[in-house]
Amino acid sequence: MKKLILLTMGTIIFPCGQDMAEPQNHAISDGFRYKIEQFEDIKILRYQVPGFEDLSLKQKKLVYYLYEAGLSGRDIIWDQNYKHNLCIRKTLEAIIEHYEGDRDTEEFQNFMIYIKRVWFSNGIHHHDSTDKICPEFSKEYFVRLLRDSKGAEFPLQEGETIETLAEKLTPILFDPLIDAKRVNQAPDKDLIVNSANNFYEGVTQKDVEAYYENLANPNDKTPVSHGLNSKILRENGKIIEKKWKIDGMYSQAIAQIVFWLEKALTVTETDAQKASLEKLIEYYKTGDLKTFDEYNILWIQDLESRVDVVNGFIEVYGDPLGMKASWESVVSFKDMEATKRAEIISHHAQWFEDHSPIDPKFRKKKVKGITAKVITVAALGGDCYPFTPVGINLPNADWIRKEHGSKSVTMGNITYSYHQESLGSGFLEEFTYSEEEKKLAEKHGFLAGNLHTDLHECVGHASGQMLPGVSAEALKNYQSSIEEARADLVALYYIMDKKLTELGVTQNSDVAKTEYDSYIRNGLMTQLTKIELGKNIEQAHMRNRQMIAKWVFEKGASENVISKKVREDKTFFVINDYEKLRALFSELLKEVQRIRSEGDYEAARALVENYGVKVDPELHKEVKARYEKLGLAPYSGFINPVFRPVVEKGEIVNVKIEYPDGYASQMMDYSKRYSFLPTYN
Ligand code: ZN
Repeated sequence: MKKLILLTMGTIIFPCGQDMAEPQNHAISDGFRYKIEQFEDIKILRYQVPGFEDLSLKQKKLVYYLYEAGLSGRDIIWDQNYKHNLCIRKTLEAIIEHYEGDRDTEEFQNFMIYIKRVWFSNGIHHHDSTDKICPEFSKEYFVRLLRDSKGAEFPLQEGETIETLAEKLTPILFDPLIDAKRVNQAPDKDLIVNSANNFYEGVTQKDVEAYYENLANPNDKTPVSHGLNSKILRENGKIIEKKWKIDGMYSQAIAQIVFWLEKALTVTETDAQKASLEKLIEYYKTGDLKTFDEYNILWIQDLESRVDVVNGFIEVYGDPLGMKASWESVVSFKDMEATKRAEIISHHAQWFEDHSPIDPKFRKKKVKGITAKVITVAALGGDCYPFTPVGINLPNADWIRKEHGSKSVTMGNITYSYHQESLGSGFLEEFTYSEEEKKLAEKHGFLAGNLHTDLHECVGHASGQMLPGVSAEALKNYQSSIEEARADLVALYYIMDKKLTELGVTQNSDVAKTEYDSYIRNGLMTQLTKIELGKNIEQAHMRNRQMIAKWVFEKGASENVISKKVREDKTFFVINDYEKLRALFSELLKEVQRIRSEGDYEAARALVENYGVKVDPELHKEVKARYEKLGLAPYSGFINPVFRPVVEKGEIVNVKIEYPDGYASQMMDYSKRYSFLPTYN
């Protein structure tokens, strides 16, 4: 629920510690090669970790241990995404290593592109649309690859031969109808039966809903996040939960994670950090969700440590019912300079809450300790690798957020990489209508994107409250879109507020105008580059962005707040009245907050389905053609740096950082060193 992905290509969210009031023009290359390679709709980038060298030895060791912990869980996300993923990955990688035939053919190249796409998505379903990725080589060729990879260790199950492995995998890989979608959100279908993820097996949506309804206690003021860390399946006619913990499902990988977390315990910076890591270990050992809540509370309280980590079953985007959490890891340390801006905003969180245009009964009377910081990412893992968010706000449990607050982060060095890579890509030239709009974007795009992220995470997600007895899951498959819309609308409303200028965060309304331009351009147009022709929008953030943009476009039509213009067969959306647009954002925010606070499923459904899902096919075609002409790929992901301990006489005396530049080699390396799970779990 609480993570922000990149808004759009070209206009970039960019926190980097420059003077807050006067963003400098960073349109200068820093000499580092960010882009590694590009294939299909994907670009692979690298990021730098500035400031790592300046950490103390103890902090460097801590980063190193947490980095190892973060890589150790890699197999979990593969298995969670689809039960055959590990089998497929092992099979494809064995072919890469052992295939004896000609590798210079088009078919082999297509095979390589396929596995690169599969690596990117941690499985065979597209990371964003969640549709099955179709191989561009034939079934017959696949069988030949298997046969001509002599000496390969294929993941054969008991009684299986290469022939039966081929028979098993061929339909899974090539038949578009089998397990077609990882997360199916079609409202008229059984969301569980029609989703290919590995969170449920042999059960229907009705079964699952009944099961959890039984566990829920509406009077519980501190409810655990039921179902967060387990698979649901039917055994001997009975519905059972298999917990993800040591001695449970995924035990082998979790044991490795815990091994490294225990090392990390020896080099913690503060008592609070130590207490929180100890709790996390206890949770991994017991799988107890109460312990997980206790861990989250301790984690929020750890404010003095420079190094920080997210490691666990966290986000629920992969489950159409929004209960089961995907495993992820982000290791980071605080960017002291850039954090100052975020702190100004978080220190005024109560002011923002009190002045929010929502119904007063949905406002939080007392906003609890939202801490905001800009972090330098050191390592991405699990569901955050290689495709990563640019902002995170955790924990997710509503009552903890209300009682204990939350931590909100903007991932500074990641957005910096996006920005550096985008320089001179031609995106702004193509999609801005006027020279003025383009100039604003060039001048203020960094700060505007940053501020949006800060406000979205630290004010947006942290604001508002549920009516008593309304559960966060009431909105079911629309919950994520509505929650993201709420956070975006708070950001859009406040970025134009004079308060930000008063606080010295912006100089005038130019930053806000830049953000409005970019938001509308993206929501109505450029994000469509990520969607295949003929398809609708699935992803929660994208649904929310189109929903907001389309809603304000339509509601403002009579007053011509935004106009659609066509010049030389190219479409543009131009904002004519920024103040009126802000008023529309405010109106929608009020309604979205009501929907969430009351758990109004029908209203959520109408809003998302009417504005967020369907795509204008003509515009879609046009935008994709314009984008492709520029040679741009709509998605970017990142490979990690490598941390190498320098050991003398059995002691780590330093940790060195290296920046490798191979995508396939990093993936193969991870599969060798961090393959802890059996093929089927
Ligand atoms: Zn968010």
